Amino acid sequence: GDVILNVQSLKKYFPIKKGFLQKTVGYVKAVDDVSFYIREGETFGLVGESGCGKTTLGRCVLRAIEPTEGSTVFKDREGRVSDLNELDNKELRKLRRDIQLIFQDPYSSLNPRMTVQNIVAEPLICNGIAHGDELRSRVRQLIEMVGLNSRHMDRYPHAFSGGQRQRIGIARALATNPRFVVCDEAVSALDVSVQAQILNLLQDLQRQLSLSYLFISHDLGVIQHISDRVGVMYVGRMVETARTEDLFRRPRHPYTEALLSAKPVPDPRRKSERIVLQGEVANPAKPPSGCYFHPRCPYAQEICKLQKPEWRKVGEDHFVACHLADELTLQGAIGS
Ligand code: SF4
Repeated sequence: GDVILNVQSLKKYFPIKKGFLQKTVGYVKAVDDVSFYIREGETFGLVGESGCGKTTLGRCVLRAIEPTEGSTVFKDREGRVSDLNELDNKELRKLRRDIQLIFQDPYSSLNPRMTVQNIVAEPLICNGIAHGDELRSRVRQLIEMVGLNSRHMDRYPHAFSGGQRQRIGIARALATNPRFVVCDEAVSALDVSVQAQILNLLQDLQRQLSLSYLFISHDLGVIQHISDRVGVMYVGRMVETARTEDLFRRPRHPYTEALLSAKPVPDPRRKSERIVLQGEVANPAKPPSGCYFHPRCPYAQEICKLQKPEWRKVGEDHFVACHLADELTLQGAIGS
């Protein structure tokens, strides 16, 4: 399919301020020169340890926070392409209908004093999409679309389970009929059995509504299950992107290999598969020189300390930032 979202050299630097005068003494490079693309109808999974910048990247792509530099080219429903980072507020508001966010925590992202009906209706009213009878029937349709009973529309969020609340959050996100949805740890707060239901729902809705997803998660099992392609982040940088099968079978970056080897065997009693790697994650305020992974990388050479590895293509839909990508033969995940 065509590319719906093309992110080029995106950066988000947060200033570090010190002392009485709050002088800027440095920057936390939360997103540091990241490039990737998402095709129409595709799920792009973004994975990495906590603090690697994946949530900040998701927010920058939505322009919920302003990126420092770079471009995010988006193709709207009429086929027009525009760089989100160059739009003024009015133009951005128009495009907001097309781009939505599903949050991690269905407990805190829904207003407890609003009925489900009003929660789902709000974006329709705010965007002037529907009112009166049309509004009510659209809300009912959305509630049923996510598998909830529309007779319970006048209840409040606390009357629903975690999984049901996440369905309400999904109905709300889909109210404006978006084309592109960022799912940020959308199933991480849920029990494993409920996770599977919500993942299946998201996949069904994707097919029905031709949605494209940016799916952010620290959970490799979830990422493998839902993604067509995967991007791996480390300390604000994208280190590898590839089709899901290629990434899991034939990783080309030593950090991806390390992540895969740390992936535990799925255990239904555990809430999620946390990634545990040896050595310390680099501090994004004081990253190492050259390749940020070099202090933990078993293959590191002199050049790795001296030079930042280029982002380059190593196969169809396969990109990697490693000096030794052509020389190394890395271990994939068993049983993938
Ligand atoms: Fe390891 Fe060097 Fe590749 Fe970085 S560039 S991942 S240190 S081999």
